[in-house]
Amino acid sequence: MVSCDVTILGAGPYGLAAAAHLRQIPGLDLRIFGEPMDFWSSHMPEGMLLRSPWPASHISDPQAALTMDAFAQAHRYQIPTPIALERFVEYGLWFQCKAVPDLDRRKIARIAKNSAGFVVTLADGEQFHSRRVVVAAGIGPFARRPEQFKALPSEFVTHVCDQSSVRRFAGKSVAVIGAGQSALESAALIHEAGGIVEVIVRQPGVHWLGWRAKLQKLGPLGKLLYHRYDIGPAGVSRIVAVPDSVKYFPRGVQDAFRRRALRPAGARWLVNRCKDIRITTNRSVASAQVAGSRIRLVLNDGSSRDVDHVLLGTGYQVNVSRYPFLSPDLSQSVEQVNGFPKLKPGFESSVPGLHFMGAPSAWNFGPLMFFVCGTDYAARRLARYLATHKSRNGAK
Ligand SMILES: Cc1cc2nc3c(=O)[nH]c(=O)nc-3n(C[C@H](O)[C@H](O)[C@H](O)COP(=O)(O)OP(=O)(O)OC[C@H]3O[C@@H](n4cnc5c(N)ncnc54)[C@H](O)[C@@H]3O)c2cc1C
Repeated sequence: MVSCDVTILGAGPYGLAAAAHLRQIPGLDLRIFGEPMDFWSSHMPEGMLLRSPWPASHISDPQAALTMDAFAQAHRYQIPTPIALERFVEYGLWFQCKAVPDLDRRKIARIAKNSAGFVVTLADGEQFHSRRVVVAAGIGPFARRPEQFKALPSEFVTHVCDQSSVRRFAGKSVAVIGAGQSALESAALIHEAGGIVEVIVRQPGVHWLGWRAKLQKLGPLGKLLYHRYDIGPAGVSRIVAVPDSVKYFPRGVQDAFRRRALRPAGARWLVNRCKDIRITTNRSVASAQVAGSRIRLVLNDGSSRDVDHVLLGTGYQVNVSRYPFLSPDLSQSVEQVNGFPKLKPGFESSVPGLHFMGAPSAWNFGPLMFFVCGTDYAARRLARYLATHKSRNGAK
């Protein structure tokens, strides 16, 4: 069987950044698989704007030569902020062509452990052996679908990640469940496309972000409290921007940082776009059932809604056992905490040679790992680790 040293599964920001960095290790035989930027182009709403600010939207490469600035310069683009989704996808594809031209777009169907590493099976049946595997498969399989909606057909209920276009909702009534960025932005896009939207929110109110912009007007104080990546509230923003500092806090505090930085919230620039949308707070959906050609929702206050469609903006819950390509044996061998794999430096799991990047690494490295700006820390640490462990753990 053909063999290689390292296989990267996934060609989103994390997989691409990892490949760009690992290519610098002399003699490392690397393969990378996946449709580039697929989650962004096919599973985010068309017309979306990035919540992350410009400094937090670069995919990492070793020389920092392939930044958003370099991309804009190469194309003579003036890119307005917030960055449009389609521009960011174009950037990711440009990054891939420059840094990882040998990407193999095939899907990996199965990864199984054997005595010398891993057997990787591609969707077309080809098999090869890899001494290490880096999983950078994103959050797609972790979409949270509350119990009351699970049995309903996709004609009536979808998660925001199930489609990229909201145009099909023009003239339809849609209940959007959730109060995070993707729920609120999807609601705005459906409203703008001519749909009739109601957002149903469990919490007493919607949390709008924007303190950073206000505090920046105060000059140095803003900078002191908020890192340029702008993840998390004042103070916490500075800590979580440096993953090495997160681990010095007690476990409970680390978890609180993660929850607080990732809590449902909408960007300030959405406020105006949502002002004509009905937002019902302090309510949850007690039951949902198909009623003729519509779906009937009964809320916890006893009121009901008959709508054409329910759109779940209910977020994502990391659980690596839901990655369909990990063989059951392998998945069970990965030591986990609430679905997150426990990782060592170098992003290596309890299974030697199996690494996880992106959101699954957030239990160890903090909420930065949910975002593009985490690619720099993650890819550099992975490359440093593999450069020093190359000879010891097998990779030639
Ligand atoms: C609506 C929405 C808006 C967001 N906005 C922002 C934002 O503004 N800024 C920000 O920093 N983050 C944002 N995020 C988070 C964003 O998803 C992550 O920052 C980013 O995608 C993480 O990159 P990744 O490489 O880990 O995952 P992904 O981008 O999801 O990439 C995973 C890749 O793995 C591939 N793959 C999966 N399974 C296989 C397989 N079996 N074989 C081969 N390939 C496979 C996929 O095709 C995909 O290309 C947003 C998320 C959502 C849902």
